[in-house]
Amino acid sequence: MIKYPVDSTHYPCCNAIGRHAPDCQPADPAAAALELIVQVPCMLTAPDDVSRVRKAWQDFAGVLDLEGAFSGMTWHDAKHAATAVAFVGANYDEPDVELRRRAALVRDGRDGMAWDDPVAMSQALAIVAKVLGL
Ligand SMILES: [Zn+2]
Repeated sequence: MIKYPVDSTHYPCCNAIGRHAPDCQPADPAAAALELIVQVPCMLTAPDDVSRVRKAWQDFAGVLDLEGAFSGMTWHDAKHAATAVAFVGANYDEPDVELRRRAALVRDGRDGMAWDDPVAMSQALAIVAKVLGL
């Protein structure tokens, strides 16, 4: 019988556990971003509720994967997009509205950030907003 089930994640790319090392450049930024989207809410959740939360965000990440939300993004951009999605998803009553607002700011260059690819960034947020609004 396992007393302390291990649910941390090992990343061979940077030999880190739980989250990528700050200087890690995952070979597949889109996949790493989807992992982040699941991990961040789990880190903010009480232990007895983590499995339910993980399942919900994994399902959500699966849809984002199908929609190609983060495909082709750099890790820098994808990482920030994923963090924004997790933050907005956890904190806003209408996360799709907020993400659509942010997507428009990025698209118009009014968010004050220097993205590697502002078009991809705006698109990613818009795709997530679309999925959330379904
Ligand atoms: Zn890594």
